[in-house]
Amino acid sequence: MQKLHHWIDGQAQPPRSGGWLDVFDPNTAQVHAQVARGDASDVEAAMAAAARAFPSWSALRNSERAGWLEKLASALESRTEEFARAESLDGGKPLALARDAEIPRAVSNLRFFAHAATQFASESHHGEAGLNYTLRPPLGVVATISPWNLPLYLFTWKIAPALAAGNTVVAKPSEVTPLTATMLAELAAGIGFPKGVLNIVHGLGPEVGEPLVTHTQVRAVSFTGSTAVGKRIAALTTTSLKKLSLELGGKNPTLVFADSDWRRQLDTLVRSAFQNSGQICLCGSRLLIERSIYGEFRDAFVERVRGLRVGDPATEGTNLGPLVSQAHFDKVMACLQRARDEGGTFLCGGRSIERAGWFVEPTVIEGLGPGCVSNREEIFGPVVTLQPFDTDEEALVLANASDYGLSASLWTRDLDRAHQLSAQLRAGIVWVNTWLMRDLRTPFGGVGSSGLGREGGAEAMRFFTEAKNVCLALG
Ligand code: NAD
Repeated sequence: MQKLHHWIDGQAQPPRSGGWLDVFDPNTAQVHAQVARGDASDVEAAMAAAARAFPSWSALRNSERAGWLEKLASALESRTEEFARAESLDGGKPLALARDAEIPRAVSNLRFFAHAATQFASESHHGEAGLNYTLRPPLGVVATISPWNLPLYLFTWKIAPALAAGNTVVAKPSEVTPLTATMLAELAAGIGFPKGVLNIVHGLGPEVGEPLVTHTQVRAVSFTGSTAVGKRIAALTTTSLKKLSLELGGKNPTLVFADSDWRRQLDTLVRSAFQNSGQICLCGSRLLIERSIYGEFRDAFVERVRGLRVGDPATEGTNLGPLVSQAHFDKVMACLQRARDEGGTFLCGGRSIERAGWFVEPTVIEGLGPGCVSNREEIFGPVVTLQPFDTDEEALVLANASDYGLSASLWTRDLDRAHQLSAQLRAGIVWVNTWLMRDLRTPFGGVGSSGLGREGGAEAMRFFTEAKNVCLALG
């Protein structure tokens, strides 16, 4: 049985408590590895290593830190297949998705922020009151906490800007999918990455996450995960006034207008709902459809969803793998029962699949209004609802009828409408006639229950640095 250790001060370390957690293959529901069950003493050791490494890492030239990130990116890129297989095994995601999208994106994250390290600049202000210039030093030791749905993709999305800006990191990957983060740490050690700069402590949220976010030496916490845990972290860190970035859940609307090219875009629309079995915070789970095309769209959409191949993630051609865990499977099944209780009509799916792992049929439901819990709470599975609308105003009201505000997609050929609605949708990210198209320089994040702050590009570099103004009297 493979044992996944913490990675502290450049080396693998067993849990000080001696405890281990089982890690499951969602395809078979069998244990495939064990991961260290960390506690506050492991966090303490990682913090000490990160604090020791900070002075020399932060003193490197930006181009030297960029060089290390580039080196790590290239090492990862050369092992794409191996990492993709690990990601697919750990999270149950289709191998092709891991190989073609997620691991390449992890490489891009490292490379993008390597470039950012050399391009990031700070401001100067003059002509009013002296000469002012802004310094942006790193914060010190920062904590990153990431979820299971896009394990290495989101792990690197956080550590890369933190390291590029000159911080040292204590990272906690999800205990559900700890494999690729551990492999990345091994890779970093293999290329001689400076010790103590990137530390990983594995384990459960209350046992590792909480001692980490409340540690007095942690200067900032970058968290991606559920809204409930995000609120808990906000409460735990409020008295210490740590910098906080929270990327939380979503209940994203997909607005399909009659004038859109929806027939040609049907594959993307289906993907936007069901990619990674709907376990992406950006998936559109509430489809709002102009009434004049409602019936035709519904039938074509459902037919396409019925054609999705659900099965072994390692088999080429599989569109949807299993859900990530027994607990998450139970949650999604309970949501399906709730949708039934609320009076929803199931157009396809709605049941589990008789296999060893945690499989749920891709499900499309109609007949549920905006007030239903099914349309208000995040399900995070292969489940979407359809609702008709008559006017742009009604579409907007339905789209904004959620406490979440992460992303929205808008499908129309009317340019005025696209601009008007994009400005009025309550979301941090709006896609028009596309979905999940990403330029890593753009601000990424949500409003309301979807979080606080923005990641991406200069936003991330600003988050991981502290602005300090220096004012010189002139003359
Ligand atoms: P989760 O909140 O259960 O866990 C996320 C991470 O937080 C894990 O590493 C977990 O161990 C840790 N954690 C749990 N309890 C903690 C605590 N008390 N203190 C500190 N850390 C704690 O989320 P999940 O189930 O792993 O991920 C799914 C959720 O993440 C969904 O809600 C999804 O929408 C959200 N998500 C958001 C984004 C985004 O960018 N907005 C991206 C991906 C996923």
